[in-house]
Amino acid sequence: MNRILVAEDEDRIASFVSKGLRAAGFTPTVVGDGVSALDYATTGEFDLLVLDIGLPGMDGFEVLKRLRSGRSSLPVIILTARQSITDTVAGLEGGADDYMSKPFRFEELLARIRLRLREDPREPEATVLTHGALALDLRSRRAAVEGRTVELSAREFALAETFIRHPGQVLSREQLLSHVWGYDFDPGSNVVDVYVRYLRKKLGVQWFETVRGMGYRLVEVA
Ligand code: CA
Repeated sequence: MNRILVAEDEDRIASFVSKGLRAAGFTPTVVGDGVSALDYATTGEFDLLVLDIGLPGMDGFEVLKRLRSGRSSLPVIILTARQSITDTVAGLEGGADDYMSKPFRFEELLARIRLRLREDPREPEATVLTHGALALDLRSRRAAVEGRTVELSAREFALAETFIRHPGQVLSREQLLSHVWGYDFDPGSNVVDVYVRYLRKKLGVQWFETVRGMGYRLVEVA
């Protein structure tokens, strides 16, 4: 359940999505036009399709329509730059399972992909992530250290969540930027360093190790 077809013609977004998926343990395949999207999607070799609407050749709505009229039940998550609600409704009526409007954060897309791929939909996803004495409640968006509640801003929470999902792994500033701030963020920005400082202050300095020249790592617990 990890082969994802990504139909997206904008290189920057395609690479942002496929890099993120690979880091999360999926096997992504990228196609850049609607005709290839439909071809690949009907091979039966994929578990989910991330489908951009504005594609050359054949737009995403048409791909979806043909896919569903061919009786494919492949889960489809639409990516759309179009903000209008009518487009979204048309997409969902056309057989999409979910949609994301651009720009989006990678973590949001990942959460939706995981939700669609969950083998037993009745089995609830873990709502509290823990790492030693650290805990993140995904539902209330609150953190706790040794049982003491700590209020985090939305960005701080997203950053902490990214760390806790990759314990012991060195995460580069670029990876953290794209995971937490999205692909539209200036890669020269020092916002990651600033927010790691906030997390150290709120959750404790011992958790977040600076790996010189590479990025940051959530220290593994013994
Ligand atoms: Ca596009």
